[in-house]
Amino acid sequence: MKSVIALVGRPNVGKSTLFNQLTRSRDALVADRPGLTRDRQYGLGKVGERSYLVVDTGGLSGEAETLDTLMAQQTLQAVSESDVVLFLVDAREGLSGADEAVAARLRVMGKPVLLVLNKTDGLDPDATAAEFHSLGIGAPIPIAAAHGRGIQGLMRRVWEHL
Ligand code: GDP
Ligand code: MG
Repeated sequence: MKSVIALVGRPNVGKSTLFNQLTRSRDALVADRPGLTRDRQYGLGKVGERSYLVVDTGGLSGEAETLDTLMAQQTLQAVSESDVVLFLVDAREGLSGADEAVAARLRVMGKPVLLVLNKTDGLDPDATAAEFHSLGIGAPIPIAAAHGRGIQGLMRRVWEHL
C-alpha cells in the first residue's frame, strides 16, 4: 500500500503550492485567496523508485467556531488517513495563535508530524525558525515551496517516518 502524506496548516501558508511540487502536477488550486481548496485533493508523487500519495487539504483555521465546518472535518479526516503529516507554517507571517491551535489539534491525533516552515525565500531561515520551536513539534524544516527550495531535504525527513 502506498504511503500517504497529508498537508495541513492554516489557509494561505502554501499547502497547495507544496502539493504541486510534491506531485509535479497542477491539480491543486493555488490562489491568493485563502480557503479556496475546499475538498481534499489527492496526488501521486515519486522519489526514485518509491511512490507516495499526497493529500492537499483546505486547512485548519485554528478558530474554535470553524472547527466543525466541512473543511475542518475533511482536513481531520485526511490526517487520520495519513502516515505522516506535514504541518506548514508561514515564515513571513510568523507564529500565530492559529498555528498553536492547529498544533494542539494535531497533537491529540497521535500521527507523526513534521513542522515545515514555508516562504523562507529572502529570509534568514534560522532567525525566522526560532519562534516556532515553542510549538513543541521539533525544529522547523525550512522550505520555499514556490521556488522548489528545500523539498529534497524535506522528503528525506519524510522517509524516516514511512
Ligand atoms: P494554501 O492556502 O495553504 O493552499 O496556500 P497556497 O499554496 O494557495 O499559497 C498561498 C500564497 O502563498 C500564494 O500566493 C502562493 O504563491 C504563496 N506562496 C506559496 N509558497 C511560497 C513561498 O515559498 N514563498 C513565497 N514568497 N510565497 C509563497
Ligand atoms: Mg490550498
